[in-house]
Amino acid sequence: MDANSSIKCSVEQCQYHAQSKDYCTLQEIKVGTHETDPTKVECTDCESFEVR
Ligand code: SF4
Repeated sequence: MDANSSIKCSVEQCQYHAQSKDYCTLQEIKVGTHETDPTKVECTDCESFEVR
């Protein structure tokens, strides 16, 4: 699949990562949080992630 130039990503362990470059190959992703009151970047998650 082609890299989506609108979605940068460095998570190479995800099956949707473009591998040859740091982009996602999905048309869109869903971002969420595992916190009740997120206050920093570590509180957010790509909920479209699936392990390779
Ligand atoms: S689905 Fe999320 S974690 Fe996976 S490559 Fe795309 S942006 Fe990265």
